[in-house]
Amino acid sequence: MHEFSLMESVIRIVKEASESNRLARITSITLVVGKLSGVNIEALRFAFEALKNEESLIQEAVLEIEEKEGQGKCSVCDKIVPVWHYDLLCPDCGMPMQVAGGDEFYVKSITGERDG
Ligand SMILES: [Zn+2]
Repeated sequence: MHEFSLMESVIRIVKEASESNRLARITSITLVVGKLSGVNIEALRFAFEALKNEESLIQEAVLEIEEKEGQGKCSVCDKIVPVWHYDLLCPDCGMPMQVAGGDEFYVKSITGERDG
């Protein structure tokens, strides 16, 4: 259900953006979802399909999702490696890695049309 509330906040952002840009319909919404963000993309798409029928503004919108690979950075030697989970040790010096990317979740772009 985590994805449902995330999708609700995405729709809130989309609504605000469409109001300030005077858009009558939204045609596409692009989200960036890091692989370490803990967000399940299938559940997110499911939530979108369920919620969009309640909102005429986004009824025809397409949901685009850009996935970002996880990235870890060594706290000691600054080595950067791709990671798929937290809790990783540096392959070079064995020290703990910190997440340097792939934990993001945000609305990247919204496109829509004005009336007339
Ligand atoms: Zn290291």
